[in-house]
Amino acid sequence: MGDKEILKAAVVFADRFFMSAEALAAIRPLGGFVWADATDDQDLAKKLEGASNVQVLVSEYIPVTARVYKKVQGLKGVIAYGAGYDHIDLTGAARQGVIVCNCRGENAQAVAEFTFGILLCLMRKIHLADRYIREGGWGRTDPASLPDWVAGAELKGKTLGIIGLGQIGYRVARIARGFGMRNLAYDPFALPPEVNPPAAEKTTWEQLIQEADIITLHVPLTPATEKMINSQTLERMKPGIWLVNTSRGRVIDEPALLEALKKKRIAGAALDVFAREPISGDHPFAKLENVILSPHLGAITQEAGERLSASVARQVREILEGQTPECVIPQPGSVRP
Ligand code: NAD
Repeated sequence: MGDKEILKAAVVFADRFFMSAEALAAIRPLGGFVWADATDDQDLAKKLEGASNVQVLVSEYIPVTARVYKKVQGLKGVIAYGAGYDHIDLTGAARQGVIVCNCRGENAQAVAEFTFGILLCLMRKIHLADRYIREGGWGRTDPASLPDWVAGAELKGKTLGIIGLGQIGYRVARIARGFGMRNLAYDPFALPPEVNPPAAEKTTWEQLIQEADIITLHVPLTPATEKMINSQTLERMKPGIWLVNTSRGRVIDEPALLEALKKKRIAGAALDVFAREPISGDHPFAKLENVILSPHLGAITQEAGERLSASVARQVREILEGQTPECVIPQPGSVRP
């Protein structure tokens, strides 16, 4: 990015994310765009110095904080590329009259499908089985038998505890029905299920924690959800449960989960997100056989990328035209947490 480019652009992409050629073509005539390739909010603020034309900022992970708002006085809107917007300072935005939007629902199918992909891998040890063959294990000793560890567990008949019954949680519930699972959901804010029979039985936190065989997390990161899975909750879960987290790493108290996994208090965990990302190959989770890890890729599919790009292009246009996009995030204090 040349220094001069950012001074001219109406739209700044804070970090690198997929934008389709069509979406970029739609944004170009609206005042142009530039990729800032920022490393953090400080770097973004520095790059935005004097960029008085910037009206819309789009960020997937780079925090948009007070120090960023201070640099762009004419800013009209911030778009979180994706569903999560815990990296955007909503209070700072409201103070400056900046609207904040996300791309609600556009990547939900990708994450819901991935939830079952990573869960099945964990429960059927597919990742370990692949490694077993590549390392020459199959047939090395007795060609007629497999080691005991290959025995897995089935989804049918299991109780699935869905925490957060929003765009992703709801799709997870629908898929789980196809596997013949019993679905419990905890979400104090979700609307009553519109289908009959409902995709999931809404329940209390306590019932979900105590009855689920598998728990999957689909909540945003908020003060109420931070470390909602901790040593006390892990203690109250059924022994031998399976846990999936494709939401945000900080929803789990990671040291407590590590402890529960080491003690085999829980059977295993499938983790796509971490308190601090990226994690290195020698992270304590990577040393455990009952854990499967992925690098925050739950939403990354070609189809979700196309939908997210189209959503960004549409919302950029709406913001520049003075309209309020459908996916606007309510200002802090105006609605439920
Ligand atoms: P959503 O807003 O549609 O759904 C979130 C649901 O959580 C809502 O129904 C809300 O009522 C509920 N909720 C909020 N606070 C809660 C609480 N304290 N207890 C229980 N439920 C609560 O969002 P979504 O599209 O389903 O995405 C959920 C989260 O998944 C996002 O916020 C994001 O952090 C994460 N995510 C991760 C990836 C990935 O790549 N792994 C991709 C997309 C989203």
